[in-house]
Amino acid sequence: MTQTAPAPAPAQKPRAPRGPAAFSDEDEALPGGGFLAAPVPRRVFCREALSDEQKALAEVAERFVQGEVWPRMEAIEEKAEVDGPNGKEPLVISLVRQAAEIGLCSIEMPESAGGLDADLATAMHVAETLRACASFAATLGAHNGIGAQPIVYFGSDAQKAAWLPRLASAEKISCYALTEPGNGSDALAGKTTAARSPDGTHFVLDGQKQFITNGSWADVGIVFAHVDGKYSALIVDLHAEGVTRGAEEKKMGIKGSSTTGLVFQGVKVPVENLLGEVGDAAKIAFNILYHGRMKLGFASLGTAKHAIDLTVKFMQSRRAFGRPIIEFDLQERKLAECVAWAYACDSLCYRVVGLVERDIQAQPDPKDPQQQVAVLRRYGLECAAIKVHGSETCSRVLYHALRMHGGYGFCQEYQVERLMRDNVVETIYEGTNDINRVVLSGAIVESCALGAIPFRERVEAVHARLRAGDLAAPAVEGWLAPEAARVAALKDALCWFVEEALIGVGGDAKVEQQVLCGVADAALAFLAAESALAHTHGLGAADPQADARADATRLAIDEAGAELARCGRDALLHVTPPSLLPDALATFERLLARGALAQDLVEVRRRLARHAARRGGYSF
Ligand SMILES: Cc1cc2nc3c(=O)[nH]c(=O)nc-3n(C[C@H](O)[C@H](O)[C@H](O)COP(=O)(O)OP(=O)(O)OC[C@H]3O[C@@H](n4cnc5c(N)ncnc54)[C@H](O)[C@@H]3O)c2cc1C
Repeated sequence: MTQTAPAPAPAQKPRAPRGPAAFSDEDEALPGGGFLAAPVPRRVFCREALSDEQKALAEVAERFVQGEVWPRMEAIEEKAEVDGPNGKEPLVISLVRQAAEIGLCSIEMPESAGGLDADLATAMHVAETLRACASFAATLGAHNGIGAQPIVYFGSDAQKAAWLPRLASAEKISCYALTEPGNGSDALAGKTTAARSPDGTHFVLDGQKQFITNGSWADVGIVFAHVDGKYSALIVDLHAEGVTRGAEEKKMGIKGSSTTGLVFQGVKVPVENLLGEVGDAAKIAFNILYHGRMKLGFASLGTAKHAIDLTVKFMQSRRAFGRPIIEFDLQERKLAECVAWAYACDSLCYRVVGLVERDIQAQPDPKDPQQQVAVLRRYGLECAAIKVHGSETCSRVLYHALRMHGGYGFCQEYQVERLMRDNVVETIYEGTNDINRVVLSGAIVESCALGAIPFRERVEAVHARLRAGDLAAPAVEGWLAPEAARVAALKDALCWFVEEALIGVGGDAKVEQQVLCGVADAALAFLAAESALAHTHGLGAADPQADARADATRLAIDEAGAELARCGRDALLHVTPPSLLPDALATFERLLARGALAQDLVEVRRRLARHAARRGGYSF
């Protein structure tokens, strides 16, 4: 299918924004699970704290997506072709080149390479706006994210000068080739080799990669291979002799993107294309994953909010039994849940990126990629949290949205069908959500065991409270005091549970994945609820939507309590010796009951749903 080339983008390439305003009171919140031990914050970084300059770039992206991408989604899905600089090319690639003209391919690239050199918060805010167009976003992300960011972070000056300007302009399209037919989650177990040539001028690349986004049309790839027996990364010209591209995968979603295998047979790669040092694969792959996970979480958040908007519009126009279906109590329940999930996710995403950016700005040279990478690495747990929470919030919202559409949700004419199919892969790539839960719980185990966070002190305080029989709700004053007290009490219960789980699994942490995933799930739900509370509280009671924010927060807190109870009981029944079990369960119940909010959640949900209906969708 051939289409007319899209019109040139109307917007000009904007100036580079850097640095969100300091907005958090989380001085004690260390990365790597520090939230467990720190006091409940009353204020965190949030989208409302983004500067006008930061928002301006997202507005440019938003206009582009709405004006150029959304109207062509069907053609993108059908892999339509248009006239390009070198003859016919896929429409989606033409749109990537157009996006490059307004800076969307070079947001995080240094100015010296023609990039915008924007800060991480801006980049993530832009990722959120690239919503509901996953085929385009995946193509763009594989090019300017995982396909270019390794060069930004780890490339030599010569490599940056050689590659980044051409990637920034999308003259060359990039990809990232880590996965192989024999290994995906076990990312460093690849078998591809890059042997040094006898004259030492090049490597000879042999092997096979699998599931490579942009595989059929990328000009260049970051390819992982063994050099001198050590897993390393190379920048590979994919037009070189010996490169074969596999057939397109017939996928469930993101059908407009390309996913193919790549076969390398005796491909000559100049030695100067080694990225970083020999043996740097783990360093490069994991740091790129942290970045990619965060971005994916933001993109999923954007799609979840979009799904809420279009569902509200649908439910307002669709009638049953003589009334718009949005007025039915059960639909209000689902709508309120969607809004509360998205609000908690939003709060979590911006809180974390604010902390990361704050720490980057505190580095001696915030523009030094190595210093940026070092900060990001410390937030590996939080990046995994954003990825899991974002992708699964989107799944849950879409599942509700589809049902709220009735039969129309099942039909292609309505967007939600595509959004739901597209969302599935978000739970698979950048590390499956299982693997991310393993990462998350592993980081908690490590932080607690190594004393990297003051977890011991926090748990000791809980034990002292239990010994003293002091189970009154924590004393908190001011607006949202009962909610803040409840969150503080839940944090105590969570810490107590984490300690019991860690003692229970002992040296079997790698085997006891179910218990540790319970730790991850409980921590994740808590972190989201705590973020929602601090987000709402930070904006204050005078915020025009304060009441609705408070209701969304209440629902998130209730969910965190329920998740903690579910995961905690499940784990305790497994890890606690039978003689200690009754006491352990009773103690857990006492901690869970502390500060419980006796609130009418039916009314909370009705209020929140009606707020969303009045505002025409997700309004925060
Ligand atoms: C559309 C698409 C695009 C992709 N794009 C790229 C790309 O551009 N570049 C690239 O390099 N890769 C890409 N991938 C690959 C993707 O990253 C992998 O599919 C993913 O990491 C999972 O690997 P796998 O498919 O081999 O599954 P496996 O590793 O075989 O996992 C199968 C199941 O086992 C579980 N599992 C595995 N190990 C463990 C463990 N230790 N503990 C508990 N459970 C475990 C997993 O969670 C999963 O449920 C893409 C994949 C898809 C589908």
